[in-house]
Amino acid sequence: MKVEQRFGPGHRILVTGGAGFVPSHLVDVLIARGCTVVVLDNFVTGSRENIAHLLDKPTFTLVEADVSDGLPEHPALAERFDAILHMASPASPTDFEKLPVEILRVGSVATLHLLERATADGARFLLASTSEAYGDPKEHPQRETYWGNVNPIGVRSVYDEAKRFSEAATMAYRRSRGVDTAIVRIFNTYGPRMRPDDGRAIPTFISQALRGEPITVHGTGNQTRSICYVADLVRGILLLLDSTESGPVNCGTEHEMSMRALAETIVSLCESKSEVTYVTRSADDPEMRRPDLTLARDLLGYEPTVAPEEGLRRTIDYFRERLG
Ligand code: NAD
Repeated sequence: MKVEQRFGPGHRILVTGGAGFVPSHLVDVLIARGCTVVVLDNFVTGSRENIAHLLDKPTFTLVEADVSDGLPEHPALAERFDAILHMASPASPTDFEKLPVEILRVGSVATLHLLERATADGARFLLASTSEAYGDPKEHPQRETYWGNVNPIGVRSVYDEAKRFSEAATMAYRRSRGVDTAIVRIFNTYGPRMRPDDGRAIPTFISQALRGEPITVHGTGNQTRSICYVADLVRGILLLLDSTESGPVNCGTEHEMSMRALAETIVSLCESKSEVTYVTRSADDPEMRRPDLTLARDLLGYEPTVAPEEGLRRTIDYFRERLG
């Protein structure tokens, strides 16, 4: 199925969390398409560097605010939006312990504020959900029809349950208020603009390998993830945005690998002498993760194209530059 580009020159798009890793890449493509983009970010985990190259563009505006407090008074927020992309949320496992209430708020009250605004504007609303909605899955690979296996009171629950609430809210506004909505369930994504110290496996392993420090794999390292290069994910999200589909639709790749294999691949690509070591694994860490991409292929014509070695190489180059 071929999806025609729906958002382009003249369209106004609000991207919450636009200074973050994934959303800043999305913003780049939207700006390149000729859209007018307003980024709303409080920099809790984002970086000014990710959007510095956009600040002098007339089609780009940065509004610094916490979206959980609602949309602030600002000239750039006064006019109607054609689409609202709710991408804001801390997303790293270390944030689950550091920012639990902030994560709950941005995945609940912020979603409601933005759905209200989408209702008022008649805007398309796209929610960045997550494979964490499946929890520690009992079905493999994970299809969108699977309801998940989430511990509602565990440390990870602030993220998993907030995203599940956001999905419920999105569907409620679609059904009861007629909002044009879309939900994408994002699987593990990596690439340039991740923070070296953000606690996720790939930036951690790359930083450790480049510094010659021991690689700290959690548990036995047999747990798996399917890793997706950010450019592939961004293409998938934009296909969903341009379509009229509501989802939820999985987005990611089927390149499933164990954490141990990932660590070894990174050590080898970095030509590092780092040893792979094993440390305590966090509670409720999912055992395996792989999206079933049938829906994304059938509805959107989505196909990831970047092989893990190639994506990892590009990410390592970025980290090498940053870490000096
Ligand atoms: P990120 O932390 O780099 O980006 C999140 C951005 O949201 C940051 O710029 C942060 O400052 C901003 N933000 C957070 N709370 C905010 C608030 N209350 N008000 C305004 N701005 C706020 O993370 P990312 O990996 O780029 O993730 C982006 C989105 O994609 C998140 O919603 C995340 O849950 C989702 N996601 C990412 C992955 C992944 O593998 N990267 C996987 C699944 C889902």
